[in-house]
Amino acid sequence: MDQVDPRRLIPRTNDLLALPAVREARTRLNGRIIRELVRDVQEQARSGGLPAGQVEPVLLAAVAARTATTLRPVLNATGVIVHTNLGRAPLSEGAVAALVAASGYVDVELDLSDGSRSRRGAGARAALLAACPAAEDALVVNNGAAALVLATTALAAGREVVLSRGELVEIGAGFRLTDLMESTGARLREVGTTNRTHLHDYAGALGPDTGCILKVHPSNFRVDGFTSAVPMAELSRLAAGNGVPLVADLGSGLLAPDPFLPDEPDAATALASGADVVIASGDKLLGGPQAGLLLGRREVIARLARHPLARAVRADKLALAALEATVAGGPPPVVQALHADAGQLRRRTDRLARELGAAVVPHDGRVGGGGAPGVPLAGWALRLPEGVARLLRTGDPAVLPRVHDGFCLVDLRCVPERDDARIAAAVREALASLEAADAGRAG
Ligand SMILES: *Cc1c(COP(=O)(O)O)cnc(C)c1O
Repeated sequence: MDQVDPRRLIPRTNDLLALPAVREARTRLNGRIIRELVRDVQEQARSGGLPAGQVEPVLLAAVAARTATTLRPVLNATGVIVHTNLGRAPLSEGAVAALVAASGYVDVELDLSDGSRSRRGAGARAALLAACPAAEDALVVNNGAAALVLATTALAAGREVVLSRGELVEIGAGFRLTDLMESTGARLREVGTTNRTHLHDYAGALGPDTGCILKVHPSNFRVDGFTSAVPMAELSRLAAGNGVPLVADLGSGLLAPDPFLPDEPDAATALASGADVVIASGDKLLGGPQAGLLLGRREVIARLARHPLARAVRADKLALAALEATVAGGPPPVVQALHADAGQLRRRTDRLARELGAAVVPHDGRVGGGGAPGVPLAGWALRLPEGVARLLRTGDPAVLPRVHDGFCLVDLRCVPERDDARIAAAVREALASLEAADAGRAG
């Protein structure tokens, strides 16, 4: 008998596409992606990397594993609550339900009682005003940076924004608030020095060209030592006396003071101290979706809402739904992680340590990109060999630990307790692979 070319045994494309599980995957994945998966597996078989008999099961596994989005959920075991690289705030269950509900047709700009058009995002606005009664009005835009651009454009394009040299902040990965503001056509009028700015510095800079005074919260750094800044109330008297609006970029998004974070500014206090508009992010300490909040005096918010740029930075319906649900709901995951009970964290960490034979070490959590730089949040971590870290990151579920001082640290502060067992399983598997790899090297 002639030798059969093994490549002739590789299942044909049409037969693979006709497999029930492959056809069902078409509700999730388009035809191009499915054909690519089929071609990849056939190619492995043609090049001899896979026996022909394995093509079908390997394809089925590949189709099952291929999700429609390449974004992968990550268990955050860093102890850093607002982790920008992990998408900042995880949403509460209520916010997730609200955004799923808003994902179809929804009355975001419609009054169902008479069929007329309504103000977009009225629900989110009402929730914000109820949570922050010091604000007369509120406007929600795409993010904090967009809120700042809108405020400086509407109030100061072609004119000056007066701000302290101690508040020229780079917010991350090369993005500077100063560049952002200058891109709007406003000119920055810097006053004072890096460490000290006084009321007379601001007063000396005000004039016919002033568009607004801006106070920026240095949310990601701290200057210690011989420092002084002008309190909001004094700045507000100066601004009001000169008929100039005072804008406060708070960054973090606290609506009211949090005793855990005494140095973190909040919207209620800033407005009560006379700020005309405060700016905050939705996905930092507020614990909601990406959004930029503008809260403040009715006339000023109306001026911003009327500006043509407002349309270019408007919040989408999903963010509006999740924001409203976050503000109206109980403490979201960010707030729970911030206020996590150290004793409870200890018990959870001890339990995993016993199961895994690992050590427990004190470990401070952090607020992270959301604010409160340098404020330690006392807690605990599992201490594991450093080599475990890569295996945890690339495992399933993906777990992001902290690598520090030659160890892999697993901090449960930002892990929902129901996921402790998944963390334990992931660590157990990573430790086993590490041991196997070490044994392989030794042998
Ligand atoms: C984070 C931050 C911003 C930017 O907000 P985004 O929501 O990230 O666009 C602006 N100003 C300050 C002070 C911040 O901390």
